Amino acid sequence: MNAQPLKGKIAAVTGSDSGIGRAIAIELAGAGADIAISYHSDRDAAQEVTTRITEMGRRAVFDHLDTADPESVKRYFERVSNDLGPPDILVNNAGIDGKTSVIEEMKVEDWDAVISVNLRGPFLCIRQVLPQMLRTGSGCILNISSVHEKIGWAGHTAYCASKAGVSMMTRALALELLDSGVRVVALAPGAIQTPINRNVWEDPKKMSDLNKKIPIGRIGVPEEIASIARVLVSDDASYVTGVTIMADGGMTAYPSFTHGG
Ligand code: BGC
Repeated sequence: MNAQPLKGKIAAVTGSDSGIGRAIAIELAGAGADIAISYHSDRDAAQEVTTRITEMGRRAVFDHLDTADPESVKRYFERVSNDLGPPDILVNNAGIDGKTSVIEEMKVEDWDAVISVNLRGPFLCIRQVLPQMLRTGSGCILNISSVHEKIGWAGHTAYCASKAGVSMMTRALALELLDSGVRVVALAPGAIQTPINRNVWEDPKKMSDLNKKIPIGRIGVPEEIASIARVLVSDDASYVTGVTIMADGGMTAYPSFTHGG
């Protein structure tokens, strides 16, 4: 087995200051890649991940990135290309759950915020890095989706719509790029313990309710997503494109059928 399958590769992981993005950045660095870190609000956390990665002997840069803003995306990736080189791997991880709200009370700006970060963001980042991938004839775009590309979630209509959009964007773009050497894959985590769902795992009652929805019976940890991401962006997944890989402890396998039926 190749211990460093990503040696010589440059990977940009959006929203890598915390949670799943942070774990993916560290995992890809462990597999040999140099890493571009980005953050939206927590600069210190981004600095910490960057230091950790440089201590692993990899090159790393970090900067602010608002994935929903074309100017910010352009500026960020120009900096990455100058300081590290153009990314061979793009992990579109930055995302938000948005405010919980029934649709008749949802403000237009709250709807737009979720769609902008979760769907427009990956589009803008892809548009920025793809030309160079096409020039080299290789690359991988990994879109972090969610079980909610399939499972409805009351009070989170915009979130579900955005992730279903990510799923179809992945398929359509993979077809567009079939002959280019660039693969496009989505990875859909289930309930993973990160700051995004702190309100659930800090509350024993909500946590026990959530555990009942997960056949494996527990919330996941970011490293359990990062290890799959590492395989998907490497040549070990050279035959995988245009599909969402679920990593959800069985959540999408109809948990109500765990017993009886
Ligand atoms: C959401 C989490 C949620 C999980 C399972 C994820 O996509 O970001 O907040 O806990 O889905 O419902």
